[in-house]
Amino acid sequence: MEKKDYYSVLGVPREATAEQVKAAYRKMALKYHPDRNPDNKESENKFKEAAEAYEVLSDDSKRQRYDQFGHAGAAGGHAGHGFSGDGANMDDIFNNFGDIFSSMFGGGQQQQRRRGPVASRGHDLGKEETISLKDAFLGTKIELSYYHFVGCDGCEGKGSKAGTGAKPCTTCKGAGQVNYQRGFFMYTQACDPCQGQGYVIQSPCETCHGQSRIQKYEKFTINVPQGIFDGAELRISGKGDAGMYGGQAGDLMLKVAVTPDKKFKRVKDDLECSVILTYPQLVFGCQIDVESIDGSVQSIKIPKGCPVGEQVVVPGKGFKKLRSNTWGNLVIITQCHIPKKLDANAKQALVEYSKLVGTTADSTGGYIAGLFKKFLG
Ligand SMILES: [Zn+2]
Ligand SMILES: [Zn+2]
Repeated sequence: MEKKDYYSVLGVPREATAEQVKAAYRKMALKYHPDRNPDNKESENKFKEAAEAYEVLSDDSKRQRYDQFGHAGAAGGHAGHGFSGDGANMDDIFNNFGDIFSSMFGGGQQQQRRRGPVASRGHDLGKEETISLKDAFLGTKIELSYYHFVGCDGCEGKGSKAGTGAKPCTTCKGAGQVNYQRGFFMYTQACDPCQGQGYVIQSPCETCHGQSRIQKYEKFTINVPQGIFDGAELRISGKGDAGMYGGQAGDLMLKVAVTPDKKFKRVKDDLECSVILTYPQLVFGCQIDVESIDGSVQSIKIPKGCPVGEQVVVPGKGFKKLRSNTWGNLVIITQCHIPKKLDANAKQALVEYSKLVGTTADSTGGYIAGLFKKFLG
């Protein structure tokens, strides 16, 4: 059979890089793969040609000889490889190109040989706890209880009985997986005897069954700092799952939710609340006592002619700022008490007042009430 130029077989220029050669070959191999073109002699020949061209062009020294001496030069370098045109054996092609085929058709990850257990870090765990706004203001303690992995005391986290260890799995020779071929495809599956670990623990610790850690219900108390925000996450180092075979433990991520309070509200680091005053208190000004969220009493001065919605600030009596030794403010917002009922004297006084400031007030009710009266006769 007349041999074609290897570069034109793969459709690459003579100066193509190794990557370009490889990419071109992959493309050809996928296109003419016998599984995709059953009983197609032409595809099979193209497939073989491409494989032969790739074998030469992917090897620096063979490619150099081929560039210098043509097909004769390349052939001299790899006698006995089964590439003799029509006579090439398909199985040989697959054996020679196992790496490129396995990566093309899946299962070709770089295999790691394992002689024994590998230390791995434990998982971080997450938990959510809810506290009141008062607890957030004052700081509090939360008792946590949960199941997690802790290191096995019986084997000091090794998984093996004292004086014994692990040995590489003889079935997969430490790879943790076995490859087998069916037709043109390479398959990979987890090794059964070692369950994909690549090693076998000879005498597993009886406490942890070779796992190096055990599940345990644990309880402990943590301090929640003053001023913590709703939704804040606290990282509690080492309280996640223990690592395996001596690996570092994960952390516990505690999310703190703060429930809203009926009376108080947090705005940044300020603590806000409303105080309800009578109209004369707002007009004349006054001194009042306000109880804060922690039960402490603040004496505040309402100025003369104070409008509704005025903010009276008590500096430094708000939330503690995290990671700082300063505090926000207590902010008191004035509201006016509007009575639904007044006794006769108070009512009379208010009517008089209303006249004096030039407004009218009709104590018999408004338009709707009047209409009902008429209707009811
Ligand atoms: Zn194995
Ligand atoms: Zn153990």
